Amino acid sequence: MTSDVAQTNASIVVRQVTCPHCKGPSLYAAANEHRPFCSFRCQQNDFGSWATESFSVQADTAHDEDPLR
Ligand SMILES: [Zn+2]
Repeated sequence: MTSDVAQTNASIVVRQVTCPHCKGPSLYAAANEHRPFCSFRCQQNDFGSWATESFSVQADTAHDEDPLR
């Protein structure tokens, strides 16, 4: 009998944040599935960059374990 639905809708807060990748405005809301990124492209680019970094770190470590001749 109460208006729970209306209260739930009122509690949805749409915020604008800074995209971690392009530093542009990004909509931090349920409608933006790539949040806190502004777009799919930014999300993929950011994940790709840190994934590449960790891979290169692992490769460097492997090189360091090369025995001296
Ligand atoms: Zn972005």
